[in-house]
Amino acid sequence: MKNIVIFGAPGSGKGTQSDLLVAKYGFKHISTGDVLRAEIKNETELGATAKSFIDKGQLIPDSLMIDILASTYDAMLPCEGVIFDGFPRTIPQAEALKEMLAKRNTGVTAMLELEVEDTVLIERLVNRGKTSGRADDNEETIKARLDVYHKQTAPLAEWYEKEGLRNTVKGTGALEEISAALCAVIDAK
Ligand code: ATP
Ligand code: MG
Repeated sequence: MKNIVIFGAPGSGKGTQSDLLVAKYGFKHISTGDVLRAEIKNETELGATAKSFIDKGQLIPDSLMIDILASTYDAMLPCEGVIFDGFPRTIPQAEALKEMLAKRNTGVTAMLELEVEDTVLIERLVNRGKTSGRADDNEETIKARLDVYHKQTAPLAEWYEKEGLRNTVKGTGALEEISAALCAVIDAK
């Protein structure tokens, strides 16, 4: 079974590329952003907590995210593989993921990093905001999210580098080309 972490800034294309990988390999997809948005839509207690952070462009506290992740993962087993999209976003989350998988006698197969420059990210997210209906896809919140990404999430790239799991792919250009580059990494594992 493969455990693939897809990594990158907001708007880097994690969700889009995950869908292509799911179609090709039959993997299950865990998008923590989608999980949280479903909770908000269903007006759960967790959703109310999540909304207070998401609307400000901030991250949900690690302890809460880690619990959600573990139960979501277990609900998907058994399967060919899982794509983690939007998790981990902090070093404690990466450590928790490693520990959670180790307890289940498995580990991260590869981390796939989508590299996209900030100006392109802002343009993509502002555009997405016109149709996504996402409260956090507005210019002010986008800037806050990018700031959080650079401060709290980007340092994880080095963490995965040290684990020998980091694979960086150019995240701009044709979707199919980006996907082919990601598949080449997965096929080599
Ligand atoms: P992309 O556009 O590449 O899919 P994104 O940052 O726009 O990425 P999501 O991954 O959907 O969007 O996340 C939306 C929000 O949900 C984040 O800004 C954050 O508040 C919250 N969130 C999602 N995953 C996590 C996590 N692992 N830890 C903490 N907060 C999270
Ligand atoms: Mg997403």
